Amino acid sequence: MTINESFFDQVVRTRFAPSPTGMMHIGNLRTALYEYLIAKSAGGKFILRIEDTDRGRLVEGAVDVIYRTLRTAGLTHDEGPDIGGPSGPYVQSQRMSLYLPYAQQLVREGHAYYCFCSKERLESLRSDSDASDVIGYDRKCRTLSDKTVSENLHAGVPFVIRQKMPLSGFTVFEDRVFGKITVPNKELEDQVLIKADGFPTYNFANIVDDHLMGITHVVRGSEYLSSTPKYNLLYEAFGWDIPCYVHLPLIQGRNPDGTVGKLSKRHGATGFDDLIAEGYLPEAIINYIALLGWCPKDDTRELFTLNELIDTFSIDGISKSPATFDYDKLEWFNAEYIRKMSDEDFIVHAKPYFEELQDIGPESYPLMIEMLKPRITKFGQIPEKLSYVNDLPDYDPELFDHKKSKSSAESAKTVLDHSVPILQNLSQWTAEAILTALTDLAEGLDVKKSAVMWPVRIAVTGMPVTPGGAVEALLLLGRDRSLYRITKSLQRLNS
Ligand code: GLU
Repeated sequence: MTINESFFDQVVRTRFAPSPTGMMHIGNLRTALYEYLIAKSAGGKFILRIEDTDRGRLVEGAVDVIYRTLRTAGLTHDEGPDIGGPSGPYVQSQRMSLYLPYAQQLVREGHAYYCFCSKERLESLRSDSDASDVIGYDRKCRTLSDKTVSENLHAGVPFVIRQKMPLSGFTVFEDRVFGKITVPNKELEDQVLIKADGFPTYNFANIVDDHLMGITHVVRGSEYLSSTPKYNLLYEAFGWDIPCYVHLPLIQGRNPDGTVGKLSKRHGATGFDDLIAEGYLPEAIINYIALLGWCPKDDTRELFTLNELIDTFSIDGISKSPATFDYDKLEWFNAEYIRKMSDEDFIVHAKPYFEELQDIGPESYPLMIEMLKPRITKFGQIPEKLSYVNDLPDYDPELFDHKKSKSSAESAKTVLDHSVPILQNLSQWTAEAILTALTDLAEGLDVKKSAVMWPVRIAVTGMPVTPGGAVEALLLLGRDRSLYRITKSLQRLNS
C-alpha cells in the first residue's frame, strides 16, 4: 500500500486522543506535546478527541483534568469538545451512530464478520490457548453461513463484529521513528471492532475518527506499534489514505539500584498535577518532557520555551531508544526557570510562603528574592530555607565551631558580646550599615571578617546553612529580633 503523498500536502492535523481514565501521566503529556509541536511547527491544527468507548474504565472528572493540564501546559487545541470544530463531535460516545454502519460495510465487503460466540466459550478458549496455533480467537464464526448469521441476528443473539485478517502474507508499514515494520498476517488476531454493548473498540473507533477528522499524523506511544498493521488493513479495506505514523519511545524510570524500568509511581510522581503540587513549574516540565525522546539537530541548547520548541521541533529528532525520566534533571530545569523568572512572577509563586513568615512584610520581598532566587530548585523549599525566621531552633552550640571561618565557641562569645552595643547603636538598619559595622568589629578585634560573620549568623538563625549570610539574616529579622537572638545565644554560650 502506498501512501498518497498529496494527502500530506494538506495542512498537518494531529490529534491528542486521551481516554478519560484518570490523571495525566508524563507519557500522555509528552504525546500531547509532540502532537502539538508537529502540528504547530508545520502551521497545522492540533485536535483534542476524547476516547471514552471503554465505559468500564471511565473515571469521573478525568476530562476536566485533561482540559486543565492542556491549559496549564499551554498546549492550546484548535478543535475539541469544549470549542467545537468542523469534524465534531469530539467525544467518541457522542459519535456512536457512526461506527456500526462502517463496520457493517466491512462485513458486506468481506473484511469483517459477525461473531456470536458466548463469553463462556471465549473464556475457555483463552484458558487453553496454548493448545492452538491461532492467535487469540479461533475464528469459529468466520465461516458461518449467511443464513445462520441472519437467523441469529433476527433471533437477537448477542454479537460482536470482528475484523477478518488475511491468513497469509505480510503487512508492511513505515513508521517515521521506528522505520519499516513487517508483520506476518497470521500473527494478527481477528480483533473485535464492535463490542457486544454496541460500542466500538478503541481499535476501530480510532481508525474511523482519524479518517473522518482528516488526521495526517498519528502520534502515540510505541505500545501501539504492534496493532498498527491491523489498523492499516482497515484503512486499506475502506480505501482510505494511511496517515503518517510517529510512534514514540518508551519512558523509563530509574530504580534505586540504578537499573531502569517502565516509569511508574514507585519512581516518584508521574502525574502532571502531582509534579505541579511538588513545586515544579509547567514551563520547566514541558521543556524537560520535550527532551524525553527528542533532541534538536545540531543544537546543544537545553532550555526551550514552548515557542522555541515550535520553531525547532522536527520528527527527525525523535529517537526510538527509550528515554529515562530523571527527577534530578527535572529539578535542574526547574531551578533554571526560577532563576530566569521576573521578580513579579517569583512573588506570585513565593507569596503564600512569604505570608507565613512572622513580622515580615512586602518591604522585605526584594531581599528574600535576592536570597532565594539563586538557591531554590522548587518554591516548596522556601519554608525550610527560611525556617529560622519564625523560630530560632534549639541548636547545638558546637555550630559556633567553624575552622574555615576561624570561629569557635570561645571566640563567638567575644564577638557576640561586642556586636550587641554596636548593632544597637547603628543609626540605620541597612545592609551597608550592618556590613560596615561588622567589618569594623572584625578589624577592632583583629580577627578575620568570617570570624565575626559566622557566629553572628549562627546566633540569629541557629542554622549551619542559610540562604544569604549574616548581613541578610540580620536585615531580614530586623534589629529587635536580631538583638534578642544574639543576647539569647550569648546566654546559651555562657551557661
Ligand atoms: N485513547 C488512546 C490512549 O489513551 C489513544 C491512543 C492513540 O493516540 O491512538 O491510549
